[in-house]
Amino acid sequence: MKALIDRILKDGKCYPGGILKVDKFINHQMDPNLMKDIAVEFIRRFASTKVNKILTIEASGIAPAIMMGFLMNLPVVFAKKKKPNTLDNMLATKVTSFTKQRDYDVVISRDYLCPDDHVIFIDDFLAYGNAAKGIIDLCKQSGATLEGMGFIIEKAFQDGGQYLREQGVRVESLAIIESLENCEIKIKNA
Ligand code: 5GP
Repeated sequence: MKALIDRILKDGKCYPGGILKVDKFINHQMDPNLMKDIAVEFIRRFASTKVNKILTIEASGIAPAIMMGFLMNLPVVFAKKKKPNTLDNMLATKVTSFTKQRDYDVVISRDYLCPDDHVIFIDDFLAYGNAAKGIIDLCKQSGATLEGMGFIIEKAFQDGGQYLREQGVRVESLAIIESLENCEIKIKNA
């Protein structure tokens, strides 16, 4: 997606350990126009897929997911990274955080992820696929069908994308980072 790639090249910053910071337009300050264009592109790419719900994980997946839900007139549910005392009837899994280097619980209510749901999962980044693996586990536990996974940015030099595609998951990434070596952002098709 050209507008996204141009923006990453203009405003993205490399950090040690293969981390790309996009705080200026995705992860902290957000650009709603770009977010809308991102949602439109996900909708185009998943046009042949029958879905009744958009699934994401807090926090940075929520903005693109809600844009998609709004445009498609579908509900959006986000997996929570803390177990609230008030959440009954929940499904839980453990995820290792790439950026924080620790494990955390991810939970979702069985009321909002059900056996007859057909979902697309949306997130900001795909790195090693740990969050995605947690979501696959939650979908399995709930009986929901995972129709595909969409990522704003995939880092191809980390192996989450390869793992998911080998598992037969339909993966759509709007910008694919080939390398962040020497603090130079190299993007596929840029
Ligand atoms: P994974 O679970 O695929 O290993 O990592 C994906 C999650 O880690 C994303 O939800 C995102 O929040 C975070 N993440 C992974 N890599 C990066 C990165 O390079 N930059 C930022 N800002 N977040 C990242």
